Amino acid sequence: QGLGRAGPSATADPLLGGLLSPDFDDRSCLSRYRASLYRQPSLHNLSSHLVSRLRRYESLHQLCGPGTPAYSRAVARLREAMDGHASSNSTSSSDTECSYIIWTPVEGLGNRILSTASAFLYALLTDRVLLVHHPADDLNDMFCEPFPWLYVHLQTDYKPDDRRFFCDDGQETLRGVRWLVLRSDNYFVPGLFFLPRYEEELVRLFPRRDTVFHHLGRYLFHPSNTVWGMATRYYSSYLAPAEERVGVQVREFKYARISADERYKQIISCASRESLLPAVENATLPSSASDHHQEQEQEQKKRKAVLIVSLNGDYYDKLSSLYYEHGAAAVTVSVFQPTHLGTQHSEKRQHNQKALAEIVLLSFSDVVVTSAQSTFGYVSQGLAGLRPWVLMLPVDGKVPDPPCRLASTIEPCFMKAPHYDCRTRGDSDNGKLVPYIRQCEDVSYGVQLV
Ligand code: GDP
Repeated sequence: QGLGRAGPSATADPLLGGLLSPDFDDRSCLSRYRASLYRQPSLHNLSSHLVSRLRRYESLHQLCGPGTPAYSRAVARLREAMDGHASSNSTSSSDTECSYIIWTPVEGLGNRILSTASAFLYALLTDRVLLVHHPADDLNDMFCEPFPWLYVHLQTDYKPDDRRFFCDDGQETLRGVRWLVLRSDNYFVPGLFFLPRYEEELVRLFPRRDTVFHHLGRYLFHPSNTVWGMATRYYSSYLAPAEERVGVQVREFKYARISADERYKQIISCASRESLLPAVENATLPSSASDHHQEQEQEQKKRKAVLIVSLNGDYYDKLSSLYYEHGAAAVTVSVFQPTHLGTQHSEKRQHNQKALAEIVLLSFSDVVVTSAQSTFGYVSQGLAGLRPWVLMLPVDGKVPDPPCRLASTIEPCFMKAPHYDCRTRGDSDNGKLVPYIRQCEDVSYGVQLV
């Protein structure tokens, strides 16, 4: 059926070992139960505790989410408080009192996905219900069933005082706050691991700490039918016939300028050092074998598909020309790139849908190459469940040495770590406090779970 490993006959586990609830209507969100047909099965164990906490969260969401009597009561109480009336204690004793965390969007898709996953884990730890606030159209028709005010500011520019969020007394202050609004573009999950009050629960949820985003990502982010359609059509047309898929995400940042030629050199140098792509044969002379034999030889070769994902079309042009002009010995290499949109437009829905479809496509790869400091890449590697080869930042506009590194973890980097000592209330190196949280390989200020 030309679907490679994907297809109705593939043995797959639609509920991902209990990660997903069976209670959804399949047609409303095709990706939810079908992602397992396309992605590698997870190699990372899921704790039974996480599964039971997710089911408990779903019940809480059903009880407290928008449209429920408990939600109406909570909103009414909030209005009263905002109007300056004393909170109506009269209603609170017998009712379920629900607490909420409201996530608000900032920055590009990768940042949004990572901060949502962090907010969700925080909601799990604090028995809150996660609400997603999206005032504009840019997030519509992107994901299925997004779940369904003090204010926490953890955006990149957060201030020293905001760091108390990662301290026990800061959490104690927030405990009684029913409505919490979060503004963050960061994957702040590693920061939750600094909090003694959540330690025991986090160990039970994630006995392997380096799989937090992998599991939460596969649980939370099911692309809408529109996005899923784009990703699966592309997959079936171009990627499925190959025996192996290599995804290469090339991100360019203004603060790390490098020419397209130099960046291409970096990709080739990484691919050849780490044997990710086959070397081309220099001889372009036709082989002496008969036409029939040549065709047979071609058919017997292993097929490798290379998926380039970038705003820029240059890398695709160069790499596809390379394999068009020269063959490789034992492998046929096909190079594909779904879009090259030029510039970021996170305010446009269709732009975001295409970006998500590409993240999803990258997550179907067998090998992933990502770009340093890109949250887009972090999400792809996490959903794939693979440690990526990371194209390191250029040095003075040139290819760095080494050009790429195998990441030590599939976890995203918390790029703006607090670097705070809760006891002394002073600065501290958060990458050295506990053995399972280290400085990120691609962001010197950041920390990540390993
Ligand atoms: P980061 O800036 O790399 O950390 O990733 P974000 O996802 O937060 O923001 C970058 C945004 O630029 C994406 O969400 C897309 O809107 C756009 N973008 C960047 N790279 C690509 C790409 O390779 N393909 C597509 N379609 N969009 C991209």
